[in-house]
Amino acid sequence: MTLGAIKKEHLGQLVAAVGAHGGFYGPVLRDNDVCLDQVQPSDTLVLDYANFTLPPKGLFFPRSEVIATHGADGMVETPLPTGKAVLFGVRPCDAMSLTYLDKVFMEAQFADPYYRARRERTLTIALACRDPAATCFCTSVAGSPSGQGGADILAVDIGDALVLESATPAGEAFLAEYRKLLGRPSDNQVKARDAQVAQAVRKVSSIGSDGVTARLQASSESAAWEELAERCLGCGVCTFLCPTCHCFGLYDEEVGPQGRRVRAQDACVFPAFTLEASGHNPRTRQGLRMRHRVMHKFCYTAQSFGDIFCVGCGRCIVNCPANMDIRETLTEVPP
Ligand code: SF4
Ligand code: SF4
Repeated sequence: MTLGAIKKEHLGQLVAAVGAHGGFYGPVLRDNDVCLDQVQPSDTLVLDYANFTLPPKGLFFPRSEVIATHGADGMVETPLPTGKAVLFGVRPCDAMSLTYLDKVFMEAQFADPYYRARRERTLTIALACRDPAATCFCTSVAGSPSGQGGADILAVDIGDALVLESATPAGEAFLAEYRKLLGRPSDNQVKARDAQVAQAVRKVSSIGSDGVTARLQASSESAAWEELAERCLGCGVCTFLCPTCHCFGLYDEEVGPQGRRVRAQDACVFPAFTLEASGHNPRTRQGLRMRHRVMHKFCYTAQSFGDIFCVGCGRCIVNCPANMDIRETLTEVPP
């Protein structure tokens, strides 16, 4: 474990130094909203935000991407992304979500070369939460506002500076490479870091999720799913904004005389998601689709990968147009 520290006023120098060797992605203002984007020379990093509306999964598993084109010369696969990148400022819940996506796209039977190339070229610096939102519940799902899961380095904001701690060998190498900018923290800075971490944990509410997997499994025939689904619009916002949702479809499209194969994110709350070529659809009702979404996150991934695929980021709560709240769903469905 290696420590580093940087004054906030020097962050621009770090962005420039790293940017000279690859892409630097971080929290910046776009249309008056704090977003994760490639930092441009005219940008200033923003450090005061609860979280981004869009999770970082889009940097590794884009909303849509052309993976091959086909024409007179046959099928040509899109080259894999190259070059180094630094992803700075993701919250610990979102860094943790990348470890779950890794299990699907890198460690399962069929690895995804595009996802793998993007993950392997990226060093992730998570930024601990100073002021978790009322909708955050990371500590109920194996997370923490200062968790290091999925991060190479954890940065903690202590006011005028950030204190950094390596979590992986890649993180240690980064701190060593930029040692001139990332000096060692003083004892007082480390004490301020520890106090900051402790106060943030106290602000996160618990949702009482003990035994949730077994409880939901026992509820699969409950009428409560249909009652809950009466409120759900089936809009897909909760799935597209969820950092761990990873369903996608592959489509072949004609573009003039050529064609292209596109991979696009999809959502299990859409009726057509499970529509089979025969016309049969095993999930005809919204209640069945809602049940599947919740069970997939809290039961099926626990069985398949050993983890609940929810990091408690609260995006599905904040952004649902029907005010659905996953915390209530988990407690309202009776066993
Ligand atoms: S965001 Fe809300 S309304 Fe839309 S599909 Fe999800 S639960 Fe249903
Ligand atoms: S289910 Fe909701 S709270 Fe959990 S990770 Fe997905 S968006 Fe975040």
